[in-house]
Amino acid sequence: MMSKNIIKSIKDTYNQFFSKEPINQELISKNVLAIINTLQANNFEAYIVGGAIRDILISLTPKDFDIATNAKPEEIRHLFKNSRIIGRRFRLVHIFFGRELIEVSTFRAKPEKVERLKNGILKDNEYGTKEEDAVRRDFTCNALYFDPKRNKIFDFFNGIEDLKNRHLNMIGNAKIRLAEDPVRAIRAIRFSAKLGFEIDNKLKQQIIQVLPELKKIPYSRLFDEILKIFLTGYAENSFKLVNDFNLAKIFFPSLQSGSKETISFIKRGLKKTDERIFLGKPINPGYLIAVFLWKDVKILQDNLAKKTKYPLTALNDAIEITLNKQNKIFPIQKRFITTMTEIWQLQPRFENLNKKRVFRLFAHPRFRAAYDFMLLRGEENEVNEQIISWWINFVESTDEERKALITN
Ligand code: ATP
Ligand code: MG
Repeated sequence: MMSKNIIKSIKDTYNQFFSKEPINQELISKNVLAIINTLQANNFEAYIVGGAIRDILISLTPKDFDIATNAKPEEIRHLFKNSRIIGRRFRLVHIFFGRELIEVSTFRAKPEKVERLKNGILKDNEYGTKEEDAVRRDFTCNALYFDPKRNKIFDFFNGIEDLKNRHLNMIGNAKIRLAEDPVRAIRAIRFSAKLGFEIDNKLKQQIIQVLPELKKIPYSRLFDEILKIFLTGYAENSFKLVNDFNLAKIFFPSLQSGSKETISFIKRGLKKTDERIFLGKPINPGYLIAVFLWKDVKILQDNLAKKTKYPLTALNDAIEITLNKQNKIFPIQKRFITTMTEIWQLQPRFENLNKKRVFRLFAHPRFRAAYDFMLLRGEENEVNEQIISWWINFVESTDEERKALITN
């Protein structure tokens, strides 16, 4: 089900770069090493865990670092001036170094009693040893504990072997672990797409069975995981999996109809997003959701426009109806709604090349996103080619040249 090319490229990368050296410490943030140093100097255990070690082992650059320690939050807080305790249910410490934020968590153990919290997650706020901490993590490859000082990885569940075999393996009984926290199903899909790992048939069936349980998970938590699927550089690849598991239909009703145009437009948007992430450019989640829902807006707008003399009213009504429909199924945070609405509302303004209007549009704070969005629509032949070339030329010109362009 994964694209063969992706699997092959990951396999090649893996064979080429995997070394007997456990970990290339060059890839680890100096600040992370400094934190671990301080914790160990104060007689605490401290390890880098989670995605960072997994990613380094398969020659991916880690996105961020998580540290696990036996120091309690207050003890960590005490050691680092630039830190803050966060979370009520389970307290973590955030340590800041300029723009870098490093999360330090105290080893947790599975609770004696199984208890479910309001947010659908299993209550697990008891401290434990690193072995106990490892048991409650999701996949074997996410439970690797690296001690930089001894240059040693603790691998309790054969995670390194699974990495070698490109196998996503749940720790413990998958059925039970998925029922405990259905979000792990989304995480399985996310990691499979990112790492190019196969999900075996048994796990696939178990994931499909638990998907309806996602309804019980609060949107804010789901939303974070969904965004991670699409905003960490593997969106195009993830989209296929998301479709295979029918997840898109759960979260974005627009995909229910799933017209060819809709899918093709979304794929283009995802591809661009991945390219931007690859180049280290910022990504606005609102932009991507605007891509997901655009064809819904567009179809409605075209229908409404037939009944009114005012095309702008048609667009605004279409936006409102689409967002209402979406909100009933999978609400989107307000801050993203604002971005999306602005991007959509600016679209017709690209068609008007009147001097004053062009400069006003160009000065709009959302111009760049709206412009990129217009180019994307252009690729689907939604925008007149001459208009597109005019704008590309305008955007790529100097201030002086722009003035000249407008006067002509
Ligand atoms: P990424 O590279 O996307 O950050 P990650 O594995 O670091 O991947 P995070 O969401 O940052 O993912 O979580 C950090 C670690 O916490 C995971 O590697 C895993 O060990 C553990 N974890 C996170 N969420 C869960 C969960 N729902 N159930 C069990 N363990 C989890
Ligand atoms: Mg992480």
